[in-house]
Amino acid sequence: MVGNEGGGDNPPTSHKRPRPEAGGGGTEMDCGDGGGGERFDYSPYIKPDYKRLYPENATYTEFKVFIEATNNKDRVGNKSPIYLNHIFSSEIKGVTAIQRINANKIAVIFKQYNTANNFINNTTFLNKHEFKAFIPAAQIEKTGIIRFVPANISNRELYTKLSSIYEIIAIRRFTKKVGQQRVPLQTVSITFLSNILPDNVQYDLFSYRVFEYVPPLQQCFRCFKFNHSARICNGKQRCSICGGEHLYKECDKPTEICCVNCSGPHLAISRLCPIKMKKILEKKNKITYASATMTKQLNNDIEFPPLSPPKIDSVHKPVNKPVHAFVNKPVSVNKPVHNVNKSKVVPPKEDIKAQIVANNDVLMALVQTLVELGNKGDNTPTTMNSIREALLKNLK
Ligand SMILES: [Zn+2]
Ligand SMILES: [Zn+2]
Ligand SMILES: [Zn+2]
Repeated sequence: MVGNEGGGDNPPTSHKRPRPEAGGGGTEMDCGDGGGGERFDYSPYIKPDYKRLYPENATYTEFKVFIEATNNKDRVGNKSPIYLNHIFSSEIKGVTAIQRINANKIAVIFKQYNTANNFINNTTFLNKHEFKAFIPAAQIEKTGIIRFVPANISNRELYTKLSSIYEIIAIRRFTKKVGQQRVPLQTVSITFLSNILPDNVQYDLFSYRVFEYVPPLQQCFRCFKFNHSARICNGKQRCSICGGEHLYKECDKPTEICCVNCSGPHLAISRLCPIKMKKILEKKNKITYASATMTKQLNNDIEFPPLSPPKIDSVHKPVNKPVHAFVNKPVSVNKPVHNVNKSKVVPPKEDIKAQIVANNDVLMALVQTLVELGNKGDNTPTTMNSIREALLKNLK
């Protein structure tokens, strides 16, 4: 869970809406906030009185609590360490460390779950210093998605009916904006009180497979770099059109489109940007890789069969041909590898993924190929061979 300080740490009461990537299609989806409320309520359903606290049986070695200022002016992360040391050592029990996360956020580390939980409930201290404290979601919760859920089933009904090996704490229906209205989609996100996902959830007799939820890539609307918000940006204001140091509304060169990140002829927010595509792929890989590793660790020695050596085809000797192995399955990058243990044990997918991510040339060639395929104007069919040729060309 280290390094997962970015997105999924908003408190459960927050109505911040996750905006998932729509499987490469570019459709913008997000979860309903009940704004429309026409004939049906699609607002997120959260377990009544749910408060994020560490469970008694948690087996962590440390218990992290995030702190932010309740007013938006005070930047807790920029406060003096002397001041922070002083207030925490004199007023709070059980603190073993304080870490700066960013300008607005610090993490306070406890050795025991109950001292961490007591701190969350210590309104006297929190109010006095104008702090809000919360446990990072990634520590104790995990969100997955299920698909093909009829839109006439409300979130509340799903909450009541769905069952799983882990407790369900929130249900959110994905919606799509059509004009001024939000239209419900058949995808639903489920948050579990667990840091791994179950394979399935049950709706009466019907079993839904649970897929990994990949939160969208965050892009700053000030500097247009990634993985932070404009609120905490330390970069300069850039123009999303020409890349200059001004607001896009004040752009004096609107015809000279130049991406801040790659200098390409597209807007800085465009999905045509190879850097942005690379970041999206990296994010998907990071999550699925982490999930596969976690599942593998848990299932180790229990249901994992011994690996048989891969069969070697005498005609095509797979000597140093990682690219070809990948070319035959280009789509697998985007697929959740949630059930990686159950698939045939060819080379482990997570190893291939890790290798690809580590190899910048391969990753960029792949991104370039995807962008080219997406921009293809003619009507020639896209075949395995044409993709393979494009990829090999970009690898040179
Ligand atoms: Zn920024
Ligand atoms: Zn400009
Ligand atoms: Zn770009």
